[in-house]
Amino acid sequence: MSNNSILVVGGGFAGITAALEAAEVGFEVYIVETNPYLGGRVAQLNQYFPKLCPPSCGLEIQFQRIKNNPKVKFFTMAEVVSVAGGPGAYDVKVKIRPRFVNANCTMCGECAKAATTTVASEFDFGLTGRKTAYSTHLFAFPQRYVIDAAACAPGELDAIASACPYGAVDVSDAEKTVDLAVGSIVWATGWKPYDMAKLTNLGGGKLKNVVSNMQFERLAAPNGPTSGKILRPSDGAEPKRIAFVQCAGSRDENHLNYCSYICCMASLKHVTYIREKCPDARVTIYYIDLRTPGRYDNFMQKVAADDKLTLVKGKVAKIVECECQSPILTVEDAVTGIKGEEKFDLVVLATGMQPSCAGSKLPVALGMDDDGFVGDDADKGLVAAGCAKLPLDVMKTAQTGTGAALKAIQNVVGR
Ligand SMILES: Cc1cc2nc3c(=O)[nH]c(=O)nc-3n(C[C@H](O)[C@H](O)[C@H](O)COP(=O)(O)OP(=O)(O)OC[C@H]3O[C@@H](n4cnc5c(N)ncnc54)[C@H](O)[C@@H]3O)c2cc1C
Repeated sequence: MSNNSILVVGGGFAGITAALEAAEVGFEVYIVETNPYLGGRVAQLNQYFPKLCPPSCGLEIQFQRIKNNPKVKFFTMAEVVSVAGGPGAYDVKVKIRPRFVNANCTMCGECAKAATTTVASEFDFGLTGRKTAYSTHLFAFPQRYVIDAAACAPGELDAIASACPYGAVDVSDAEKTVDLAVGSIVWATGWKPYDMAKLTNLGGGKLKNVVSNMQFERLAAPNGPTSGKILRPSDGAEPKRIAFVQCAGSRDENHLNYCSYICCMASLKHVTYIREKCPDARVTIYYIDLRTPGRYDNFMQKVAADDKLTLVKGKVAKIVECECQSPILTVEDAVTGIKGEEKFDLVVLATGMQPSCAGSKLPVALGMDDDGFVGDDADKGLVAAGCAKLPLDVMKTAQTGTGAALKAIQNVVGR
């Protein structure tokens, strides 16, 4: 039987936008999100261009709209397992992992104090640890802790439950399956950072003072591992010379065979973080082409006026480290043709955005190209949005979310 509800898979900027656009014109929407929170990668940024606002600024408005709209229902720690049926009448099975924390949670943090095990923090890309009872960030939505029961030591889960003054820890929570009947599906599963450990010549994942651009976002974030101080991971010293390596793995047939669109802008934005937090630090950006499309060029011109910033057109071939763990770059200047070595205190690899579904099989009949980007089948009510479809900034991501909502609505109206 046909159904005019809409399923949105992925609760990042694309998915939230698609969901709200559809719900606010009267359609019932379900968001299925694998993380314990909504907001996607934007939640992990320190600030986002072009206005350089903190992520809470854009996201909290969206969360309010979700809270105020009974047409939007969402599942976190959830994934689509299978999709059966056809256009206008899809039967979707969703698996929900246990959170072990119910709606009584007040975010008081007593559970985290009782937790004794620490594991690497996914939210901070391993730059710090998190407890087995944790909240990823202050403005996490929903405002509710998570218990990582699988990582708990014997007896730890019970100790965590006893420490909660509100009876919010439910040790009996278990995996559930939910069946949804929907007419259209928006696929908005976004991106993951390209695995820098694959960039062996650049010391990715091996050299302590070579970090990825997303790790740099966390280093600069006030809620990050260093409370917003930009410090070298090896010794906690403030870096005086910082280099950015553009196209780290991007536009390279051995890694990501495309331009990720935002990495040049992200590194220029990172220069503004450095200027604010390490005012005297000297910065060099090594690039193949600086790509700052459209009005982003104004941002580039402004940042490029910084007299402690040097822009070098050149490809970084290799990074090794000296005894004090400072990275040494081998670079060929593309203008002078001179090959040389430069030593820095900290290096940031501008790694690209890889579609999060790359390398996996979709549970829905949507096409995927060789890079893992998902295509549309709009006539069947199957629509892709955001970085699941192509690399985008937040503004264009939101536009594709709106477009996807319209296509999803067109498919369910009149059935
Ligand atoms: C270093 C860096 C800095 C950046 N800075 C900026 C900036 O300053 N300004 C700007 O405009 N853009 C910036 N971007 C780009 C920005 O992050 C993206 O435009 C934005 O995240 C795209 O949103 P999205 O919803 O498409 O994807 P995502 O943010 O990735 O959200 C996708 C959501 O889907 C979920 N998901 C994934 N798989 C599944 C699944 N199978 N089932 C259910 N849920 C799933 C994920 O958990 C996630 O919550 C930056 C990117 C990088 C790499």
